[in-house]
Amino acid sequence: MTTPPRPLRVAVIGAGPAGIYASDLLIRNEEVEVFVDLFEQMPAPFGLIRYGVAPDHPRIKGIVKSLHNVLDKPHLRLLGNVTVGRDVTVEELREYYDAVVFSTGAVADRELNIPGIDASGSYGAADFVGFYDGNPRFERSWDLSARSVAVIGVGNVGLDVARILAKTGDELRVTEIPDNVYESLSRNRATEVHVFGRRGPAQVKFTPQELKELDHSPTINVVVDPADIDYDAASEEARRASKSQDLVCQILEQYAIREAKEAPHTLQIHLFENPVEVLHRDGSVVGLRTERTELDGRGGVRSTGKFTDWPVQAVYRAVGYRSDAVAGVPFDFERNVIPNDGGHVLDNAGVERIPGLYATGWIKRGPVGLIGNTKSDAKETTDMLISDAVNGALEVPTFTDPEAITELLDARGVPFTTWEGWHRLDSAERALGEAEGRERKKIVDWEEMVRHAREVPVCI
Ligand SMILES: Cc1cc2nc3c(=O)[nH]c(=O)nc-3n(C[C@H](O)[C@H](O)[C@H](O)COP(=O)(O)OP(=O)(O)OC[C@H]3O[C@@H](n4cnc5c(N)ncnc54)[C@H](O)[C@@H]3O)c2cc1C
Repeated sequence: MTTPPRPLRVAVIGAGPAGIYASDLLIRNEEVEVFVDLFEQMPAPFGLIRYGVAPDHPRIKGIVKSLHNVLDKPHLRLLGNVTVGRDVTVEELREYYDAVVFSTGAVADRELNIPGIDASGSYGAADFVGFYDGNPRFERSWDLSARSVAVIGVGNVGLDVARILAKTGDELRVTEIPDNVYESLSRNRATEVHVFGRRGPAQVKFTPQELKELDHSPTINVVVDPADIDYDAASEEARRASKSQDLVCQILEQYAIREAKEAPHTLQIHLFENPVEVLHRDGSVVGLRTERTELDGRGGVRSTGKFTDWPVQAVYRAVGYRSDAVAGVPFDFERNVIPNDGGHVLDNAGVERIPGLYATGWIKRGPVGLIGNTKSDAKETTDMLISDAVNGALEVPTFTDPEAITELLDARGVPFTTWEGWHRLDSAERALGEAEGRERKKIVDWEEMVRHAREVPVCI
């Protein structure tokens, strides 16, 4: 057994929770000394915690405070505003690091192939989330003129989208949303938000807390039709097998039987309604057609041939996120993940390991699961990497000087941001928020983020 004679240098690609947890585990392992360079395409770290978790979930956004402790460590260096595959290639990284870990997550919407899905007024949830969470890559304003809106999908992202659409702009103004988002949300005319899922209460993907929390807004009356509460033997088994699913069923039942709440906005969750077509006139959404389903006794549903047209003027599909391929790394275009054996990157055939390349987080196992799940996932991957290092299975890179990579980025004119830069941007956002009595107000312009992070004075 050989131990590397010098500290290991690892590049982790993607500063979302998976990349940060993996970096932490690598630095804290007791077998090999590891230095990590954490590459991130955005000028700011934290991935979907910053650009996915809804702004009215400050407790979850607060997870970044614990991640600060990791990024504060001297063995970790953040290199933000660097897109791997564009500013620096994977092939090049292999010359500078003993190992490369991909934690590039997911940003785009999975497709939903039903007629009319491309009509004007039909949106992907990821685009709307990117907008309201102030991601500089997404639209800066949003047409919220629809009075009735449909959300397709019965997972937590569907609930986020429905809740943001059903709340008032003023309710959200206390959060970190930037001015452009507040301006659009304050013009929101939606009074009815309908969430559609093709299966029943025992099959929805909500988590209890998110479902219950819908009712906390004084402006939202949550409605479930008692006819949408139905269970067969397989559903009862699913409830017995999962405490969380059972709680979800109980909450849905409560919504179904209680007195209507006096509130200006209705959010109705429709179960056993399978969206089959987005209806449109002159290219714009005028409705959603669903087909009623029923339980098939085996844990699934079957069609009934009964259709309903719901008059809505906007449709949001929240049917899952999708990861993008990184240039120079194998990609499984069917599962939308980097092929891997639980940590090692495999070739495109999914057979041979590619030495020195690893994957973790959503890019490893697909876009499901909460932030906490990325921790155990990172452990599996980093254990493999450390074991490979200890067993001498990693190739020695050509360049071992830590400054060689920043010199390369400088030579290419890549204006990378650092952890100190994040502190400057963070302070600027906090100062903007403080002036309005909030904790933070996000800066949404990419160049402005970079200017703050790189300490060039901003002209106002
Ligand atoms: C809308 C939404 C709301 C959610 N809300 C919650 C919630 O309330 N609670 C909860 O626990 N979980 C929530 N989740 C789930 C949680 O966000 C994920 O479990 C988690 O973010 C996955 O972590 P990750 O690091 O794998 O991916 P990500 O968070 O996506 O991080 C990947 C990072 O890689 C970067 N990157 C990608 N490509 C490159 C490249 N080529 N070069 C450099 N950098 C790159 C990206 O910019 C990003 O920062 C939510 C998810 C979504 C989509």
